[in-house]
Amino acid sequence: MMELLKVSNLCIEYASPRGIVKAADGVSFAINRGEIFGLAGESGCGKSTTAYGISRLLRPPARLSAGSVKLEDVELTTLSDAEFDRLRWSKISIVLQSAMNNLNPVMKIGDQLADSILTHEPMTKQQALQRARELMQLVDLPMDRLGSFPHELSGGMRQRVVIAMALSLNPSLVIMDEPTTALDVVVQKGIVSKIMELQQTFGFSILFITHDLPLMLEMCSRIGIMYAGKLVEVASREELLEGPRHPYTQGLLRSFPSVSGPRKRLAGIPGSPPDLITPPAGCRFHPRCGQAKPRCINAEPIALPVGEGVVACHLYGEEGTAYEQASAASE
Ligand code: SF4
Ligand code: MG
Repeated sequence: MMELLKVSNLCIEYASPRGIVKAADGVSFAINRGEIFGLAGESGCGKSTTAYGISRLLRPPARLSAGSVKLEDVELTTLSDAEFDRLRWSKISIVLQSAMNNLNPVMKIGDQLADSILTHEPMTKQQALQRARELMQLVDLPMDRLGSFPHELSGGMRQRVVIAMALSLNPSLVIMDEPTTALDVVVQKGIVSKIMELQQTFGFSILFITHDLPLMLEMCSRIGIMYAGKLVEVASREELLEGPRHPYTQGLLRSFPSVSGPRKRLAGIPGSPPDLITPPAGCRFHPRCGQAKPRCINAEPIALPVGEGVVACHLYGEEGTAYEQASAASE
């Protein structure tokens, strides 16, 4: 499979009155062409921050302090704003949780769609409006809604408009951060199946972020699990369903009794995530981990390939040692 996006050692931090918060700390993963890749984890683990870092939506005081993001071999982190703006929508677009954050409240839907097309493609307003009509059809919205303002639409309709806008210039990657979280369950199901259908038709890749693990397992072929700013495991859906490797992932999955069942408290994991200003030494999960060893308290586990994915946990140390030797020998 061809790699589309490669994120390497992404570090995002911001200053707070108590010190530097490392919201994403050395995050690395890749997304293939046509793949739906998920990022999961409790709120505050850094999944949205990572998405914002990739799509250059970080706002001060948050800043990228290290790392690389390559989309089709173009390094995104060092592009000028003008250069990145040319790629926004045409190569990479983003759908946020609240459609209102994506839409201009005082502009009619049709004009917004046409405008976002016109900023990137040389065409007449008439052609852009025609494209807007096609996009409305694509997301099953009635044509007369082109003349509506965002507040005149339901939440589900607004999110469909945002999805249409995100797809208006055939991007290769669409980042979706909790795209259905604000919607009720029935509307959510409709939007999810629409997203899946469009993805099948057009073949774009998706970075899908949600705290809804059953939904994620339904949609994504591979999933990255984040804990306290670190990516602790990447695994295929099958691997996660058969037996997650990282103790945190195991706890996270235990908190969802079945893929369709209701969410329970994180029964498998006592305690709460650490303060990101002074995270625990060693493995950040060690104060909550039932399988912690003495080594976990001061040695930070590094992410190593295991199975189809990677795991950062000392329980996989044997393979880790072999891997470290192999990569040292090949240097
Ligand atoms: Fe638990 Fe140690 Fe693995 Fe961390 S490294 S998850 S503390 S076993
Ligand atoms: Mg978030």
